[in-house]
Amino acid sequence: MTLLTFRFAPSPNGELHLGHAYSALLNQQMAKAAGGRLLLRIEDIDTTRCTPQFEAGIYRDLKWLGLGWEEPVRRQSGHFTDYQAALDRLIGQEFVYPAFMSRSEIRAFIADREKRGRDWPRDPDGVPLYPAADKALPVKERRRRIAGNAPFAWRLDVDAAMAHVGKALSWTEFTDETLSATRQIEARPRDWGDVIVARRDVPTSYHLAVVVDDALQAVSHVVRGKDLYAATGVQRLLQEVLGLPQPAYFHHRLVLGPDGRKLSKSLGDTGLATLREAGASPDDVRKLVGL
Ligand code: GLU
Repeated sequence: MTLLTFRFAPSPNGELHLGHAYSALLNQQMAKAAGGRLLLRIEDIDTTRCTPQFEAGIYRDLKWLGLGWEEPVRRQSGHFTDYQAALDRLIGQEFVYPAFMSRSEIRAFIADREKRGRDWPRDPDGVPLYPAADKALPVKERRRRIAGNAPFAWRLDVDAAMAHVGKALSWTEFTDETLSATRQIEARPRDWGDVIVARRDVPTSYHLAVVVDDALQAVSHVVRGKDLYAATGVQRLLQEVLGLPQPAYFHHRLVLGPDGRKLSKSLGDTGLATLREAGASPDDVRKLVGL
C-alpha cells in the first residue's frame, strides 16, 4: 500500500500567524490519523519578498508547536531547473505566450473599456483578467520584442489549454478532515483568465511550482485554506496539460481575525512569535484555532 503524503507549504515572506498554525496542525493531525507522511515545503520563489529570517522563523514556530516533518525540506528556490523544464514543455506546446503589457498598461486598457460602459471581468480574487491583446501578436513581433529585452511574463493560454484537454475538468475534494467522503468539484480555470505561469527572470509562478512539486514529492493529499479553493481549478488544468497526477484536496476553514476578516501576515497580534513571547503555550494556540 502506498503511504498517503501530506504537506504544509508556507511562504517565508512574513511571520506565521494563527491561520498557518491551524493549517500546519491540521496537516499533522490528518497525516497521523492516516498513518501517512508529512512534508514541509518552503515556497520561496519570490526572492525579493522571502527572507532567511522569515524562513528561520517558520522552523522555530513550527518546532515550538510540536510539528515534525521529513528532512530534507524542499525549498523551491533551489529547484528552478525543475520548473524551467515544465515551462519549456508549455512553451513547446504553445500553451503559454509572452505577455508584454505592464501593470499600468493593463490598468489603462481596462479603464478605457470600462469608460465605454463595459464591465471588465474579474477573477475570483477580484483582480481584472488580463486583456490578452498580445496573444494575437505575430511570432516575428514577439521575437523582436524579446530580442530587444522588452519585459514580459509567460501567461497560460487558457483557451488553448482547455481545447487541448477537450473535456470538463474537476477535482476530488474531501468533505471533512476525517477523509471519509469525497465529492467532485468542477474546475473553472477560465474564471482566472490567462494567469502568469512564469516571469522573464523567474521560470515559474506559484501555480506552476505547486503542481510540479506536488507531483515530484508524490503528495497525495493537499490540505490548505479555503482561500485557495478556486485556484485549484488552474492547478488542475496545469496538471492535465503537463501529464501530472492529481492529488485529492481538502480546503479547510480559515481562522478569522477579531474583525471577522482573513488574517494577514501584517497582523502582529495573531503572529505565533508574538503570542509565544506574550507567554502563550502551544496548547493555547490549539485552543485559539479550535483544535
Ligand atoms: N505557499 C502558499 C501560501 O503560503 C500555499 C500553497 C499551497 O498550499 O498550495 O499561501
